[in-house]
Amino acid sequence: MSLPLIQQYLPGYPAHVQAQVAQLHAQGQLGQYFRQRYPQPNTIQSDKALYDFCNGLRQRYLKNAPLLDKVYFDSQLTIERQTLGLNTAISRVQGGKLKAKKEIRISSFFKTTPAEFLTMIVVHELAHLKERDHDKAFYQLCLHMEPDYMQYEFDCRLYLLSLILNKTQVGLLT
Ligand SMILES: [Zn+2]
Repeated sequence: MSLPLIQQYLPGYPAHVQAQVAQLHAQGQLGQYFRQRYPQPNTIQSDKALYDFCNGLRQRYLKNAPLLDKVYFDSQLTIERQTLGLNTAISRVQGGKLKAKKEIRISSFFKTTPAEFLTMIVVHELAHLKERDHDKAFYQLCLHMEPDYMQYEFDCRLYLLSLILNKTQVGLLT
């Protein structure tokens, strides 16, 4: 049964939404849903392009957020580890002063997803530069940067879930 997995990947979403997803999956229609809705593949493939994309959004929407020292794709962040984006402030001594280096790491997984999902994860990690918790202020900031943020987050969870369900079918996951 795939419903426990659906509950795990879509926590907090209403039962009727979860049931609808289970039905789409059972009918083999999840793949089609994504191809129709998100036909545009992500073109950002290098760390440089990722940095420029992140920094562009930061400059446009988060004027007084700290500067980003480093932004890169990280192949260590995987679905299996349940971490697809990270933001860190690493304190380093520089010129006798303690300086926090801001880093954003995005899972290499997003190189192969629709463009909108990369935007979603980047917006998410950028919002954490100002808001630590996943509270109302955090989501308001996400929506400020990307008005379709909630839809993208939901669909990205659904996309992950469909990949896991497909793997389960061919026996890669038990
Ligand atoms: Zn977060």
